[in-house]
Amino acid sequence: MSSVVVALVIALAAGGGVATALFVVPRASQALQAVTARTLQADPEEPAAPGEEPTAAGPSEAGAPTGGEPEAPTEGDGSEPEIPVGDDEEPEPVDPDDELERAPALDAPSPGKVPTNPPLQLDDVEIEIVEGTRPWVIHRLTPFETFDQVAHRYDVTPEALRTWNGLGPDAKAAGGMRVKLQARRVPPPRQEVQYTVQPGDTWWSIAVAHGIDSRELRAANGTAPRRLTVGETLDLWIDPAVHHWVHSDRAALDDEDVLTNIRRGAVGVGPPWDGRLMNGVQIPAGEGWRRKLRPSSYGTTHAVVTLVAALQAFHASSGYERALLLGSMSRRHGGPLSGHRSHQTGRDLDIRLPLSADNPPWFPIKPWRVDYEALWRLLEALADTGEIEIVFLDYELQKPLYKAATSLGADEDTRRRMIQWPRGRAAHSGLVRHESGHGEHIHVRFRCGPLETECVAGNPSTDGG
Ligand SMILES: [Zn+2]
Repeated sequence: MSSVVVALVIALAAGGGVATALFVVPRASQALQAVTARTLQADPEEPAAPGEEPTAAGPSEAGAPTGGEPEAPTEGDGSEPEIPVGDDEEPEPVDPDDELERAPALDAPSPGKVPTNPPLQLDDVEIEIVEGTRPWVIHRLTPFETFDQVAHRYDVTPEALRTWNGLGPDAKAAGGMRVKLQARRVPPPRQEVQYTVQPGDTWWSIAVAHGIDSRELRAANGTAPRRLTVGETLDLWIDPAVHHWVHSDRAALDDEDVLTNIRRGAVGVGPPWDGRLMNGVQIPAGEGWRRKLRPSSYGTTHAVVTLVAALQAFHASSGYERALLLGSMSRRHGGPLSGHRSHQTGRDLDIRLPLSADNPPWFPIKPWRVDYEALWRLLEALADTGEIEIVFLDYELQKPLYKAATSLGADEDTRRRMIQWPRGRAAHSGLVRHESGHGEHIHVRFRCGPLETECVAGNPSTDGG
């Protein structure tokens, strides 16, 4: 029945040097929740309407600054907490904030007929990845959008955004403000729509159905924590790319075709060491692994789908008989996680090193107790997804890993591509890199998903090889 067709096309524009990730959705997709459409500015350069906040800066002038983007911080996490051992998965404590988000809307004082929401009209959507000359873009801030978030959205550094717009450290972002920037990536702007709360709705269900952050939704519709009321009208600021992905009937990611039970729309915002996770999905239970820290077992859809595919492949083919012990990924909303520097955006995960069979599973990890062949198989399964940015492992353990890879028949090219050893612990090559404090677990960082409009990839200076 559905006529929704989604195509994710990478097209190289001839001569322009511009790669375009084209994400096309025909209008009037009936798969959408009924939503009142108020089609908004699709053009980021649309002039300000009367009565709006003044712009922070006008359009670009000749001689506008072009540089000034400092290096990202280093990738490493330093020493991280140990992953608990034992058979049980840690229970998840009740979160009052979560309870509120999931409480159904209260009936209105004078119940009447609740207007339904007409289908949302959506324009075609394009995320343009700029490879040539970077265009100047004027962006109008939406309510509660931060300067950092705007920078992430266009893949520029927050420092550059501040420089381009003369924003001091105390400058406050406000809805309607305009900023200029030289974009590396140009996603479609968020669209504001109005939504009438229906019986059974929760903050969480409305946010998830529209691919928007549940906390932003609440912040944009009243400051005090409160329950919804049936029939009330909410302002929704929808990210078209995420929304289309949530509602398309064809997966944007290949693996989703076989893993359709993992909810779409969980996306990371910002870099792993200074960001958050929007509507995180929890790693599902599965044969072959255990989630040892469930309150921090949430990730992006892209990372969790990729992880499950890799774990299933490892379980099916490695011959490793014990369950892998998964440590922290991120909390449901991401942000700082105790004991970790990164793990903030739902795409970092710690996995306890597999012990060889002659060691009881509760033994502390020592280099001589590690099952390096199983570890190599696990890394192969992860790398085969093509969606791993980097893996941290203490340099001392990389040599025996390299030997295991050799004995399992990995050719030299593969070993060099996968493992930093023997080029030195500071070498910027190899998927597996040294990081102190990673002698008992590997730390896996997944790539940003193709439709995560505000995800920031790792530091390119350590992403070579
Ligand atoms: Zn970690």
